[in-house]
Amino acid sequence: MTRTDTPPFAWDRVVSARGQRMNSSVIREMLKITQRPDVISFAGGLPAPELFPIEAVRQAASTVLDRYGPAALQYSTTEGHLPLREWLAARASITPQHVQIMTGSQQSLDLLGKMLINEGDVVLVEAPTYLGALQSFQPYGPQYVQVPTDDHGIDVDALETLLHTTRAKLLYAVPNFQNPTGRTLSLERRQQLVELTARHGIVLVEDDPYGALRFTGEALPSLYTLGLERAGHPDHNHVVYSSSFSKVLVPGLRDAWVQAARPLIHKLVQAKQGADLHTPTFNQMIVAELVEDVMPAQIERVRQAYGERAGQMVQSMQRHFPAGVQYTTPQGGMFLWVTLPEQIDTAPLLQQAVARGVAFVPGAPFFALGGGHNTMRLSYSSATPEQIERGIAALGETIRSALD
Ligand code: PMP
Repeated sequence: MTRTDTPPFAWDRVVSARGQRMNSSVIREMLKITQRPDVISFAGGLPAPELFPIEAVRQAASTVLDRYGPAALQYSTTEGHLPLREWLAARASITPQHVQIMTGSQQSLDLLGKMLINEGDVVLVEAPTYLGALQSFQPYGPQYVQVPTDDHGIDVDALETLLHTTRAKLLYAVPNFQNPTGRTLSLERRQQLVELTARHGIVLVEDDPYGALRFTGEALPSLYTLGLERAGHPDHNHVVYSSSFSKVLVPGLRDAWVQAARPLIHKLVQAKQGADLHTPTFNQMIVAELVEDVMPAQIERVRQAYGERAGQMVQSMQRHFPAGVQYTTPQGGMFLWVTLPEQIDTAPLLQQAVARGVAFVPGAPFFALGGGHNTMRLSYSSATPEQIERGIAALGETIRSALD
């Protein structure tokens, strides 16, 4: 029997100030209405599951158990599986001491926030930016300042002007095929951004889960690489690089990493000890088993599929969207960004779109300080070309009827 004579425990009163600052993702709430099976969803943004290398993962799991035995299932070091750190370090011309394995790059963002952000510190973010980063940083009490962006990413001139009057601690950027816009920061701006932030003593956090998924155009150097060239030594680099195996292998193993100067890695190791001791040993060993022989071909498959899907989406938008609607043409990654005429608010538009069988994510939540009411994010990664054509046609109709 349930007793009803005791008053409920006052949970709101005991939740910490930090906890009070957290809120559930607006997007998660909105996605609930888009999950009807008859709705074509460009909202979710999941990697394409039909491309997951299931057989290779099965074999790697078996190989790892044969090779390492119980050690594959034992606790292991906080820093991460050494062969994996060595592999990552060699690619970046640094040492394993500059590489920390993380449980998803979402954890990297949380622990970086924990170690770098004091309450009230100014954190510069792109407008718009990755919503998950805002969620990770939020509990640590940042004061966000938005940096304007255009088709080539962060507007570095506008940033320079802003820095005349703003003392910032950290700048968070997604330079390749940004989530949510699909935009890429140009080479010239990368150089300027690295220089400018170094001169002002601002930590530059580069979040790069999509960099390997380029389907057109030429690869550009990471901010981390430019920072390393400038600094001459990994311990002097002010750029912190975060990436992940989620989009180039599978997200469910939750394997990711951070490259940074040793003093910061040292703090991240301590933060991670408190968070989860280490990333699952078995998962790291599986990933290490896959990086050489399976990952390159996997990246090729994913790139090709996403390239076709993005191309299809752009073509369908050309055909079905009314004049006055603007959109980005991504060179890689999973997302593109649509800007509608000013008078349309995409939050109520979502209901109308769902009624016509298509879903997107309204853009406003991606702005730390508001804005973007007339924007939306579309993901093409897990839809077939046929669904893309049908979904974009339905979205075009929805937009037209809102403009009438
Ligand atoms: N950063 C960005 C820009 C992302 O888009 C995502 C996933 N959507 C993440 C970080 C987190 O990815 P994961 O934790 O799977 O590495």
